[in-house]
This record gives sequence, structure tokens and C-alpha cells, in this order.
Amino acid sequence: MNRTMSTARLTINLQALASNWRALDAMTEVETGAVVKADAYGLGAGPVADTLAEEGVRKFFVAVAEEGAAVRKAIGPGPMICVFSGHMEGDADLLRAHDLIPLLNSPEQFQRHTQALPDHPFGIQLDSGMNRLGLEPADWAALRPQAEALNPLVVMSHLACSDEPDHAMNHQQLKVFRDMTDGISAPRSLAATGGLLLGSEFHFDFCRPGIGIYGGMPFTAAKPVVTVDLPVVQIRALEVGETVGYGNSWTARRPSRIATVAAGYADGLHRAIGGGIDTFAGGQPCPVVGRISMDLITVDVTDLTHAPDRLRILNGHQTVDDLAEAAGTIGYEILTSLGSRYSRGYVE
Ligand SMILES: *Cc1c(COP(=O)(O)O)cnc(C)c1O
Repeated sequence: MNRTMSTARLTINLQALASNWRALDAMTEVETGAVVKADAYGLGAGPVADTLAEEGVRKFFVAVAEEGAAVRKAIGPGPMICVFSGHMEGDADLLRAHDLIPLLNSPEQFQRHTQALPDHPFGIQLDSGMNRLGLEPADWAALRPQAEALNPLVVMSHLACSDEPDHAMNHQQLKVFRDMTDGISAPRSLAATGGLLLGSEFHFDFCRPGIGIYGGMPFTAAKPVVTVDLPVVQIRALEVGETVGYGNSWTARRPSRIATVAAGYADGLHRAIGGGIDTFAGGQPCPVVGRISMDLITVDVTDLTHAPDRLRILNGHQTVDDLAEAAGTIGYEILTSLGSRYSRGYVE
């Protein structure tokens, strides 16, 4: 049996991905890295990191050491791979074996790292106000002379509200970051996608976008990277007054044809995605009707003149951010929850 016909298909356009990275890179005068945590936001760390390395990315960022090992396998030696969670208990072997740079987050991590891997390079993550990861100002003040003497490769912090350009927190964190790092010789970084778009005072020595590369907000000029095609399992005719799906939440107001497609909330198409979402047969929109089930979605195809084999739910018109808005979440969550049941394909 041809599995690619009967399973939902996630197609990742590596050209669009590369183009988004280049567009972000062109918006600054400084180096641009790439965040490829969570399997490159669900799109496949290997092919994504490979593509970006070919574009010239020399600084990659992952959440934990295991992810860093996977990226190193894909891109080979050379580019820097930094680990946001720093040096956690038991990480030393992975950090050494795969030449990963832990971004040390606490005095404890600093001690652990300098004891376990005294000659292994590291970076520093500072807390400029988000209260999630990083050394707090007082701890950093105490540690700075010792850390600086060991030449950290990176000193960075993260913005809490950079997707809201007018939020006072942005400049507040900028000031704290400056106060904590002015005069240091290590390369500094504060901006992810949102911070990059805030302007040059947030750029420092390099930026490290994630979501913008993958085609998501707040980078409004991004090219869509992902398409999702759902195979049609069957199509049935409904009389006026018949209902569709769990809870009878949709009722036919006209003689209707309903297509059932093979994907659902177990594939990251959240049940909370309410009305207003279409699937597409070529360019023609066909509304999703009734509740989204675990493995199935029902679609009104009455207005089509043909019986489609597959319907597309993510494309250039309806994006991850549209699905996110309909589900009351953010594009990041839609992307990273697109499940492992998809057959993944890449277009170069
Ligand atoms: C996830 C993350 C990024 C990338 O953020 P985007 O909003 O996806 O660009 C950058 N830095 C840190 C510390 C992160 O956790």
C-alpha cells in the first residue's frame, strides 16, 4: 500500500525557510543565528539545520543537550550549537562528545561546568526580568570576574514581551541587559524574532530568531513554510436537517456533501479550532464543519464539482497563525504539535 496516499502529509518548503532566514538576516547589521529547538519547531531539526548551515548560519540554539546532539549529527563539525538549559546534571558527556556550548544559568551550573569540563567553552544566560532562565543580577555581579576570565563565547538574555513592540518591558529589559553586560568582550545577544523586529538597539552582536524562520508571527513578511494535506476517507450525501459529528454541532441547511478526512486533534489540529477554518481543494475553500475528532475532520464539499482525493488545511492563504487564532493559541504551539503521524516531505 502507498502510505503517502493514506496518511496526512506535512510538506516543508526549505526554500521558503531559507528565504525567511535571509530576510531576517538582511534586517540587521549583525550576525543572525537560528533557534532549532523542539526538533526545529516540529519541522525536523536535521533537514532544517542542514539548510540553514548551507545559508551560512554559524550559531544554532537548542533547548536541551539531546537536541544539540541531533543537530550536530546533521550539520557536522564547525558551527556553534548552544544549549538554553545550560549544563544540567549528567550533561557532561553529551556536551563534550558533540561539542555543545551550554548557556550557564546559575552559580550551580557554573560550578558544575567548570568542575566537570574545565577546558570546555560555555556561554552565559542572564535574567533581565523574565524570571524564567538565567543568572540574576546579584549572582552575575558576584560571578562576572571569574566568568569573564574564562572568556565566555556568548552572553545572552531573552525578552518577555517582544511580540508587543510598545510594551514598556522591552526597554526595561534592554536597560537591565546593558547594565549587566556593558564593557564585556564576549558577543552579546538579546533578540529572538520579536526583538530583531524591534530595531537595531536590540540587536547587539547577533540575533537568534526561531519562529520567523518557520513562517510565523510576529514576522508578518514571512513566507509560509508548511503545507498540510489530508487524505479524504469518504464522502457522503446529507439531507437538510441531518447533523455531523460529536455533539451534533453542525446541521445541514441544504442538501450537502460531507468529506471525512484522516487527521484530527491527535495530529495537532486542536479540537478547540472552532468555526471559520477551511480546507482547500486547489484554490477553492471548503469549510470545516462539526467537531474535530481525534483522527478525523469533516468538511463541507457541497460546492465542489468533483470528489477530491485530499484537502489542504495549511497553505499560503491559511497559515499556522490562522489555525492558532481559531484555536485560541499561538502559531508556535500549532507548529510544534503537528504530530508524528504525518508523513513528512521536504521540497528543496
Ligand atoms: C525560543 C527562544 C528563542 C527563539 O524565539 P522566537 O520567538 O521563536 O524567535 C530565542 N531565545 C530563547 C532563549 C528562546 O527560548
